Amino acid sequence: MDQPPLNPLVVLGATGSIGRQTLDVARSLGIEVAALAARRGSDELLALAKEFSGATVGMTAPTESERATFTNLFGSRVRFGPELLPELAATSGATVLNGVVGAAGLEASVAALEAGNRLALANKESLVAGGPVVEKARVRGGGELIPVDSEHSALLQCLAGEEAGAVRRLILTASGGPFRGSTADELAAVTIEQALDHPTWSMGPRITIDSATLMNKAFEVIETHFLFGVDFDQIEVVIHPQSIVHSAVEFVDGSIKAQLGEPDMRLPIQFALTYPARQPSSLTPFSLAGSSLTFEEPDWESFPLLGLGYEAGRRGGSGPAVLNAADEIAVQAFLDGRIGFAVIAKVVADTLEKVSFRDLDSVADVKAVDAEARAVASQLVAPS
Ligand code: MG
Repeated sequence: MDQPPLNPLVVLGATGSIGRQTLDVARSLGIEVAALAARRGSDELLALAKEFSGATVGMTAPTESERATFTNLFGSRVRFGPELLPELAATSGATVLNGVVGAAGLEASVAALEAGNRLALANKESLVAGGPVVEKARVRGGGELIPVDSEHSALLQCLAGEEAGAVRRLILTASGGPFRGSTADELAAVTIEQALDHPTWSMGPRITIDSATLMNKAFEVIETHFLFGVDFDQIEVVIHPQSIVHSAVEFVDGSIKAQLGEPDMRLPIQFALTYPARQPSSLTPFSLAGSSLTFEEPDWESFPLLGLGYEAGRRGGSGPAVLNAADEIAVQAFLDGRIGFAVIAKVVADTLEKVSFRDLDSVADVKAVDAEARAVASQLVAPS
């Protein structure tokens, strides 16, 4: 079967977990890599620059010696400085994989969409903090926004070929994290080690804690709202400990479509690059026979951040940006041993109360709200 050639790839966050797996997919499908960017000029980036010899290589925060090494070896192929992320994201005709961690990813997302590119989005802050701004950029530039997260990829796959009016509910699955079934009292005594031990996915420390508090699921609810243009009343969360059903869609006739697979990010990454087509992969398919899949209601009382996420999302405007910033400060304070696990939710709720609500029209607006929320949350976690 002949496939049209896939767009050349720009991989932002090339040495992070999503970036690495994206390059695996690029190798296996033979996709051209037009550009690679990372924060630092690590040995890993050096090896990638050698391997992908036609690619522009960018570093946003290199040391002097990294700068010298890369310039000596690769000359004009190398670029430095934080502004290179939006510049590379605007590469004409590219698919931009945004695997940047943190707020720096927002500008790259906006630039990719304004340039009319396909944005394969793995940067959480883009839609959680900057949803209204990213949405404007998509409309203005005509770019295409394709999710890389396993849940949103599942929704996209279930929605393929369906009409918007036929959808009743989008059902996001959540593993429930390591503390599924715990009471609020038990959660108050959770240690850092326990919180970092996620049952099915292996990820960085912040997202692992966010999975344990269900904050991550709340972020995904907000992203779902922006990605698929649905009301919060139409988005549900169900706990599914096996992480095999990645999400599901219920239609007006009562039919439910779900997408299943082994938890392996290379599948949603590949789909974001080949969408709407599929291409063969060597990933192990999930075996239905002999498996049991279970589903349960989330425990809203023990995991209050899930409900807070809906609240902030319904409020719209700056609400989700405040939620994200406050959570990042609170999670860091927990990881530093400064606050208890259950206090994370309290810090987020109090910050949402204290930061005044406003609309978000630009990246600058998002940055201002983010800075204010961080300042408020930092005060709340500071020892009195
Ligand atoms: Mg996810």
